[in-house]
Amino acid sequence: MTKAVTGKCLCGAVTFTGTPAERGTGVCHCKMCRMQSSGPFFAVRMVDGVHITQDQALKWYDASDIGERGFCTDCGSTLFWRSKDCEPGQWAVSAGTLPDDAVPEIFEHIWNDDKAPYYEFADAAPRRTAAECLDGTPEPKPNGPTDAR
Ligand SMILES: [Zn+2]
Ligand SMILES: [Zn+2]
Repeated sequence: MTKAVTGKCLCGAVTFTGTPAERGTGVCHCKMCRMQSSGPFFAVRMVDGVHITQDQALKWYDASDIGERGFCTDCGSTLFWRSKDCEPGQWAVSAGTLPDDAVPEIFEHIWNDDKAPYYEFADAAPRRTAAECLDGTPEPKPNGPTDAR
């Protein structure tokens, strides 16, 4: 599983490479993720960061006081989430942009208490609440609607 792969948006205007980390895929159920992409965000980390190979349509939305969301301005694909204080390239990559066989299994669910009631996952990976994920740090302040946490 530790081989470099190429990821891309739906139209191909944004492309990147990286090596998915073996720890697995984290699933975020927060309302912000779900508003952006219709479902939970399947987050994959790269062991040595994300290397953008084509970026003319990549835009970063300043989503909250702690995070930015990268997307394609041509096709609208959800691509990345990054913390404002993270190391360059240490972004969460949307699993849908990667080849399916390169995406590791789900290892955790985060913001699980923010999950919508109309779906459930059947896997046994740990469910962590927003409070557990924040671990004492303040809640993110969305720059969009305040009900979009
Ligand atoms: Zn695109
Ligand atoms: Zn989220």
